[in-house]
Amino acid sequence: LTTEEFRRLGHAYVDWVADHRAGLPGLPVVPPVGPGEVATALSQPGAAFPDGRLPEAPQPLDTLLDAVDRVVVPGSTLWQHPAFFGYFPANSSLTSLLGDLLSGALGAQGMLWSTSPAATEAEQVLLDGFARALGLGEAFTFSGGGGGVIQDSASSAALVALLAALHRVRPGWRETGVDGRERVYVTAETHSSLAKAVRVAGLGARALRVVDPVPGTQAMSAAALAGAMAADVAAGLAPVLVCATVGTTGTGAVDPVRDIAPVAAAHGAWLHVDAAWAGVAGLCPELRHVIDGVGLADSFCTDAHKWLFTAFDASLLWVRDAAALPAALSVTPEYLRNAASESGAVVDYRDWQVPLGRRFRALKLWAVVHALGLEGLRAHLRGHVAAAVALAGRVRAEPGVVLAAPPTLGLVCLRYVGADGGPDDAVTRAVLERVNSSGAAFVTHTVLDGRYVIRVAVGGVATEATHVEALWERLCAEAGTVRATSTL
Ligand code: PLP
Repeated sequence: LTTEEFRRLGHAYVDWVADHRAGLPGLPVVPPVGPGEVATALSQPGAAFPDGRLPEAPQPLDTLLDAVDRVVVPGSTLWQHPAFFGYFPANSSLTSLLGDLLSGALGAQGMLWSTSPAATEAEQVLLDGFARALGLGEAFTFSGGGGGVIQDSASSAALVALLAALHRVRPGWRETGVDGRERVYVTAETHSSLAKAVRVAGLGARALRVVDPVPGTQAMSAAALAGAMAADVAAGLAPVLVCATVGTTGTGAVDPVRDIAPVAAAHGAWLHVDAAWAGVAGLCPELRHVIDGVGLADSFCTDAHKWLFTAFDASLLWVRDAAALPAALSVTPEYLRNAASESGAVVDYRDWQVPLGRRFRALKLWAVVHALGLEGLRAHLRGHVAAAVALAGRVRAEPGVVLAAPPTLGLVCLRYVGADGGPDDAVTRAVLERVNSSGAAFVTHTVLDGRYVIRVAVGGVATEATHVEALWERLCAEAGTVRATSTL
């Protein structure tokens, strides 16, 4: 592609993106496709990959857009649809796409400071700024002795935090590995990425200690944690890491970080705060209470790619000790040696993550904060929280449906109840299925105390109060139909 051809095609591709986003409200959120249908459509005679073979001859790039229109869009779950309320949001704002375009254009490999000084230092400055804007405390900034890094995911952030914890708590770990006595503390609601990190680190499932919640809640009990850690130490085991979650995936529960921190510290364990979804709320002073106590943690993670207007992948991780990750992860072959690294005056982000290579992810986050400012980002978050509060109010006022857990920020969990006031799983499940198969909106579920729950996660880049109101009307209509049918 010459630069002039790129210019022409780029306009066409940008037009496609703009038309696609503008047309989203008219499309079904979830495609009515079954397993194998997309692959079959792509492999048919005359399609992109007839008989599963790649094209021998070059083809004009304009025609790729036709295939995307015919096969890819109709086979895609439309996460940027304003009526997407599933899982947690995956904000892929047009603003961040423009920043990502610049990143791709530079094509920089930011593994070392010397392989792209700007990629490293822009990330450092940006993350220092976000640490201040979130109120994490100066200890998490590079100027305060800590620092931030953009990981691909909160899962990777948890893994590297665990490796740093192992290095700190188990001297000699890098040489001898683990010995089976390491323990990691979570709750039943902790994200599965912690279990995966424990497995990847070679600790084995027995290393995971599931701590009881505060009775009647989903949040970790600091007293139960203290008991579990003391019992483990008495049994000769080694507490390595405590993971406190701010905004659990199931119901948005918030572990009491301020109470947990001294317990972890008393046993020398690393405290990681997984605030993958909810942490960005700290940008709003009136919502910052959700991350209360985070200044006492060793590491803190929140995903810009969930609710902060930034396209996947951009998971923000801060540590209070800038030496912790390099101490655990640095491996230096001759071909990576250079004067800047050896001077000790630079950050080499390869030592802060598992892979060697890394993209210039900071540019898309920079584009977002440049275009919206913190005020714009706060307005984005506040709009969703207000819409979720309104939805929770609708649920409270409606007979036959209840809040299954206290709403947190943009997350509302609800379930349908029978005449006796008890949960009616069959109705809840049927309503979810009918909403999703309608194509008009998409919600997902969790199970709480063994009972089925619909989760409504408000936070899409295009989601406004009117879309949440429309979802509520749809829920009411489908519940009416389900109940009428089941009593026939
Ligand atoms: N932690 C929490 C609380 C989450 O809700 C999620 C995903 O929803 C994750 C971690 C994993 O996020 P990622 O996809 O960035 O690894």
